[in-house]
Amino acid sequence: METMTKNVSVEKSKTSKISEVDFNNLSFGSVYTDHMLVCDFVNGAWQTPKVVPYQPITLEPSAKIFHYGQSIFEGMKAYKDENGDAWLFRPLENFKRLNKSAKRLAIPELPEAYFMEGLTTLLQVEKDWIPQNPGSSLYVRPFILASGTGFHASPADEYKFIIACAPSGAYFSGKVKVLIEENYSRAANGGVGYAKAGGNYAGQFYPTQLAIEKGYNQVIWTDDNTHEYIEEAGAMNIFVRINDTLITGPTSDRILDGITRKSILEIAEDQGIATEVRKITVSEVVEAAKNGSLKEMFGAGTAAVVSPIAGFGYQGTDYELPELDNSYATQLKTYITDIQYNRTEDKFGWRYPV
Ligand code: PMP
Repeated sequence: METMTKNVSVEKSKTSKISEVDFNNLSFGSVYTDHMLVCDFVNGAWQTPKVVPYQPITLEPSAKIFHYGQSIFEGMKAYKDENGDAWLFRPLENFKRLNKSAKRLAIPELPEAYFMEGLTTLLQVEKDWIPQNPGSSLYVRPFILASGTGFHASPADEYKFIIACAPSGAYFSGKVKVLIEENYSRAANGGVGYAKAGGNYAGQFYPTQLAIEKGYNQVIWTDDNTHEYIEEAGAMNIFVRINDTLITGPTSDRILDGITRKSILEIAEDQGIATEVRKITVSEVVEAAKNGSLKEMFGAGTAAVVSPIAGFGYQGTDYELPELDNSYATQLKTYITDIQYNRTEDKFGWRYPV
């Protein structure tokens, strides 16, 4: 049966996989819900989005996604509160960033109503899939790929915008040990680092594998030109606390404008924590680790929220960070997740009902 909201039609799945899922033992992003949103760009226009049963998509071998990597994505979460009500966190920011990425990858920008109504309609259909267990959420993955064909290296004339969802537990377990990268780069000036382009992540896999072989969990990306500045932690923004000041790098061509990053900055300022947005040098972090003024480092992003760093390697030496009782990481993670799960007043207006 097909029902239609303002813009989005819904075709319900005949069966549900939900009873096969152990919601007490969820990994991250590896089981998918019963439905997905699909919206095609054909004949020069985005067509009406549809919620349909989750299913494989068919593409020609000549689809440009396969050859030129013309694809972008977003990552967000839906949270369920104690009363069973569902919430998103600043979804318009994800929409705006998706279109920023689209522009950079020469993908046609998506109308806001298609994104927002598509997203909320899908989540209303999938409400039972939003976990209520502590720390769990429904990871939501909007993405656009070039489905149009041709071996000519130019933008495709057809695209698919899809949203798929995966009930998920915590992203990382425990503190991570990171390697400050001295050779490889994630992004460059004039490049696509500020966009969530699929290829940015493919390019990170190999250097990350090398770091894992050396016993680290993640790479700390440094600037491509000098490798003297700390920029991001894996696929997260990075925060460094020296004495009592919380520092993060400025967004740029190379540093993604993370929604968690900017929310954490606002919360920290509101809570009276001294913050600085400025370039961070590797040498000041090493120096601070040596003289004890480096109190904390953590990654910040939707998936892990806040991911504390236990230590880092640089030029063959490992540096450990102290165990803190009252870390900014814990304080800020508690507050941001309290907003996300509707456990506290939403003074910034970030919660968005599904
Ligand atoms: N940096 C990179 C490279 C990322 O891929 C992400 C994840 N989107 C982030 C930072 C964190 O962004 P957000 O807080 O919006 O998830």
